[in-house]
Amino acid sequence: MSEQGIGTKCVQAGYTPGNGEPRQIPIIQSTTFKYATSEQMGRLFDLEESGYFYTRLQNPTNDMVAAKIAALEGGTAAMLTSSGQAANFYAVFNIASCGDHVVASSTIYGGTYNLFHVTMRKMGVDFTFVSPDCTEEELNAAFRPNTKAVFGETIANPALTVLDIEKFARAAHAHGVPLIVDNTFATPVNCRPFAWGADIVTHSTTKYMDGHGAGVGGAIVDSGKFDWLAHADKFPGLTTPDDSYHGVTYAEKFGLGGAFITKCTAQLMRDFGSIQSPQNAFILNLGLESLHVRMPRHCENALAVAKFLKDHPKISFVIYPGLEGDKYHSLAMKYMPHGTCGVVSFGFKGGRAAAEEFMKHLKLGAIETHVADARTCCLHPASATHRQMNDQELVAAGITPDLVRMSCGLEDAADLVADIAQALEKV
Ligand SMILES: *Cc1c(COP(=O)(O)O)cnc(C)c1O
Repeated sequence: MSEQGIGTKCVQAGYTPGNGEPRQIPIIQSTTFKYATSEQMGRLFDLEESGYFYTRLQNPTNDMVAAKIAALEGGTAAMLTSSGQAANFYAVFNIASCGDHVVASSTIYGGTYNLFHVTMRKMGVDFTFVSPDCTEEELNAAFRPNTKAVFGETIANPALTVLDIEKFARAAHAHGVPLIVDNTFATPVNCRPFAWGADIVTHSTTKYMDGHGAGVGGAIVDSGKFDWLAHADKFPGLTTPDDSYHGVTYAEKFGLGGAFITKCTAQLMRDFGSIQSPQNAFILNLGLESLHVRMPRHCENALAVAKFLKDHPKISFVIYPGLEGDKYHSLAMKYMPHGTCGVVSFGFKGGRAAAEEFMKHLKLGAIETHVADARTCCLHPASATHRQMNDQELVAAGITPDLVRMSCGLEDAADLVADIAQALEKV
């Protein structure tokens, strides 16, 4: 059979029930699993046999949903995490530890920026932040001998810059390291970063994948394409024996398709324990079943809102990569020809005060620290997600004090535009 379409995968991938088995994925609400002999349990512990023994390591419900996300991204293996933060931390820490260095786009999500710039620095991992618009020369100059990965977001939250995935992949591969792309905003419905050279994809499944504001979660997907053994000296964690698993060498035992996720599960999930609950994985799967139906509507509504705001006299700028004339429109058309995301950022001629006033008067758009929900919501990043940053860092992250981020939901576009119009009248 030729490769199935993204919609078929959204609905059916990851779980095929046998005769008489439940049609919906079962929620295996169990911490542990029973075995007949200690010998068999021992083989599971040694990764000699695959099987479930403790839900912190693996759970069947989570594995079904992870398998669906792997299929959606076109990857070889995937795992769920408790949040997008955990997914990005694990994805980077799986290959970069104390004494290592990572190159990251400067416009990434504020939570990820804090994780890298503050918390992971305390763990001894250094980061160089580069503008997503940098030249190839500038990008190549950011690498050091101890660089272990490159990190960026397909569409940055909330700066809405579009990553030139091919440019970043080229630089990463020229230096023998993988490109990790956070594909939260585009989702695999609108962009599949592996097709453009990315090696690892991460998600905050809290956003469009769940899509209903119901469960915080994350995912990591491996393309299986990065050749760890060809750069063995850079990635000893994957290419030399792991003493905590009786000398297993992940890249040899699990192949390029399985090494990254197996190590990430066996070491990082074992030791840090940021698991997604099977209940949440079930809810996430409900969201995934309609992802391909919801994404076009989010994009359609966002485009209608962006077009309305662009011509409004009280608005100073509109950022939406799906909008013609946007700085990133041509990159968006290349990487996401069928749509980008439902998030629009814009600024006010009246500055920060006007932004805050506007938000108070919205009736459909609620003020929330959230995006990618079925219900429209908005946020003032400078006083919320990005309040840790000084003015210089805000500018580097693509955020001005008057910027409002609006996540267009699945309501009728005409109602969203009318709500925005009446709130603007009161500014
Ligand atoms: C929200 C978000 C995260 C963090 O995810 P959580 O699920 O909130 O932990 C990471 N990256 C991007 C692009 C996000 O939008």
